[in-house]
Amino acid sequence: MKKIDILSLSLDELEAEMISIGEKKFRAKQIFQWLHVKQVRDFNEMSNISLELRTKLNEHFCIKSLIIARRLESCIDNTVKYLYRLSDDACVETVLMEYNHGLSLCVSTQVGCKMGCKFCASTIAGFERNLEPSEILLQLYETQKDCGKKISGIVLMGIGEPLDNYQNVVKFLELVSAPEGCGLSLRHVTLSTCGLVPGIRKLAELKLGLTLSVSLHCPDNEGRSEIMPVNKSYNVYELIAATKEYVQKTGRRVTYEYAVIDGVNSGKNDAIKLAQLIKGINCHVNLIPVNSVKERNYHSSRESAIRFQKYLLGLGVNATVRRTLGSDINAACGQLRREAAGM
Ligand code: SAH
Repeated sequence: MKKIDILSLSLDELEAEMISIGEKKFRAKQIFQWLHVKQVRDFNEMSNISLELRTKLNEHFCIKSLIIARRLESCIDNTVKYLYRLSDDACVETVLMEYNHGLSLCVSTQVGCKMGCKFCASTIAGFERNLEPSEILLQLYETQKDCGKKISGIVLMGIGEPLDNYQNVVKFLELVSAPEGCGLSLRHVTLSTCGLVPGIRKLAELKLGLTLSVSLHCPDNEGRSEIMPVNKSYNVYELIAATKEYVQKTGRRVTYEYAVIDGVNSGKNDAIKLAQLIKGINCHVNLIPVNSVKERNYHSSRESAIRFQKYLLGLGVNATVRRTLGSDINAACGQLRREAAGM
């Protein structure tokens, strides 16, 4: 019998499980707190649970864990990049970043990615599998344990496309914000998507209070399809319409991510098209000079991003240039995992 991944169960689900193994419902809350507040990784450490029930738990459930395979610390800005090894030996990356307002963690949602964005290292070797809710959550728990500090914000911007692993990601959001667990407010969570329109629509219905970040990167279909194959399935106009609906339904401002690439999307004309495209939407544009990936011939610089920002500000668009963190430790998506696996 395959053991159930207990860290992926919500409190309601754990209650149902307790009943199904002939236990009292209240046991679920005790166990949930051991797992998510005290964060033990062994049923035998649950000291208010009888030996008999602990034996039963061991028979029915497993507690997943992650191992730090590599850990790189930036000398420039305290960014720490972790390569975590999962139980099947697959690896994912997690990045801990320090901001004035606290620590933020960039987590992965899949092993690899199928989206094929041309500038992104996470997708070059393709897709292996989705992460379980527990495996996304454990990136937070293990990093917190390793750094000995509380992490106050999460961005789903690591390896993978969160909306391509919709169910597990929504479950992770439920778990991470559970008041009986670590109780992180979803106001401090940002989910980034390359533009899976049906997922954006479903997420809007949940009204979760998180920040939606949309990787736009190009203001027209021709250019966007060139660098982001997903645009052939959901084009720029459908994407903008879906984000508009998201803002209307949730009352939350969206962020458009725009990786500035010299000679591709960084001209004055691109800024004019972008301003036109997002006119009237409660949004913010986050510019980032494209991080060079050795297989791709894309380049940029902070100066290019600032130039593009000036165009946008002149057109009345709210735009900032993102700080580049961890540049000395290859903190861009997917680069460490590929190095380690020799991919
Ligand atoms: N799949 C999701 C989240 C993961 S990528 C998404 O596409 O949004 C997180 C962000 O980093 C995205 O905006 C992505 O487009 C961007 N990104 C990926 N590779 C990059 C690179 N080489 N330089 C700059 N930004 C990059």
